[in-house]
Amino acid sequence: RMFDGNMDKSDVWSIFTPANVPPNCINLGQGFMNWSPPDWIREKAHASMDSDVMSNHYSHPRGRPRLIKALSKHYSPQFPNIVARGEDLKPEEIVVTAGANCGTYAALVAHCEPGDEVILFEPFFDQYFASIHFQHAKPVYVPLHPPTGDGVKSGADWKIDFDELRKAFSPKTKAIIVNTPHNPVGKVFSRDELEKIAQLCIEFNVLCLADEVYDCMVYDGLEHVRIASLPGMWERTLTIGSGGKSFACTGWRVGWLIGHPTLVGATLAAHSRLVFCTNSPLQEATAIGLEGAEEHNFFPDQLRAYEERRDILCSYFDELGLSYTRPEGSYFLLVDMDPIKIPESFETPSFCTEGGRGKDFAMCWWLAQDIGVVGIPPSEFYCKEHEKIGERFARFAFCKDPELLHAAGKRLLRLK
Ligand code: GLN
Repeated sequence: RMFDGNMDKSDVWSIFTPANVPPNCINLGQGFMNWSPPDWIREKAHASMDSDVMSNHYSHPRGRPRLIKALSKHYSPQFPNIVARGEDLKPEEIVVTAGANCGTYAALVAHCEPGDEVILFEPFFDQYFASIHFQHAKPVYVPLHPPTGDGVKSGADWKIDFDELRKAFSPKTKAIIVNTPHNPVGKVFSRDELEKIAQLCIEFNVLCLADEVYDCMVYDGLEHVRIASLPGMWERTLTIGSGGKSFACTGWRVGWLIGHPTLVGATLAAHSRLVFCTNSPLQEATAIGLEGAEEHNFFPDQLRAYEERRDILCSYFDELGLSYTRPEGSYFLLVDMDPIKIPESFETPSFCTEGGRGKDFAMCWWLAQDIGVVGIPPSEFYCKEHEKIGERFARFAFCKDPELLHAAGKRLLRLK
């Protein structure tokens, strides 16, 4: 099958995976943590696998009842509309998926027809692009306009032009993907921005896929607004969440979608044909995490630790005098690498240039080889026509311990 754009090349994650870069590299590329979920989750999870035969077998395709219940308890208070109705999220409003990624894919399978259009804010998490194409649907791009000028910027400086957004909507628009906190920019969409997006969704009768997998990482007391809770949006929004991001277990592949039973039901039907259900023992483990989070003050402590990690990594780019977007949320730092030049003697391998790849691939490959720090080239998060906008940046993940971030920072200071 032929696709336009990037589908014929190796994906960025396979190129910059730990197995593919020098072994002593510090990997700030793909967003995975260098720690495991807390002992109190892992110990109870092992015990449940040993003591409960059924935790080793198929789950109900909607998800294990214990996890559904824990999700309902955890999320209901976070949706002002659910609080207002006075009844917690019901099982038919939740589906557990094989990671947020497969959940998003299942939602697109369930809701998109060939020829439908799906609006994406650009840059966008690259999996969306492929997942839309596999439905024979068409991505329509709306830029998050990068800030201009040097210095430290904020996620809020990446602006949406609402006339441009309106023009992207058409009778063919089936869905829009709204990713807040945003990967790779670290932007947390404001209430005002989300209200304007919501108005267009309602006017054009469009489904909203709200990718909120970084909802536990919203910094500096900023408000994380759930678009599903805005008037008229519950009926047309699927909110996507991630166990891997929330509890530091990205390999567990436990995610979920929350929304109106009709939207969730169709997604469940698609998901159950893709994988039937996601793995059972780690659904139990995720439920254990949600059940115990309050007792262990888990989410507030984790948030503070992430703010500290963000500040550590930012401090090295301050020292280097490179401009960057200070993340309002997520665990990604987007740095303007334009002033840095790759030494002429460095031989860029062909996979960094194939298919007219952006110069950021060469930059990140050189950083990995010669500086010993892995970042992700963000042109992968742009469509082919717009990838030039992204190629001046590199994305660094700060979901690492302070010691490792300091070690990476010290290596990066060699760029001075
Ligand atoms: N969300 C992760 C990141 O952006 C990557 C997930 C994946 O590799 N598909 O780093």
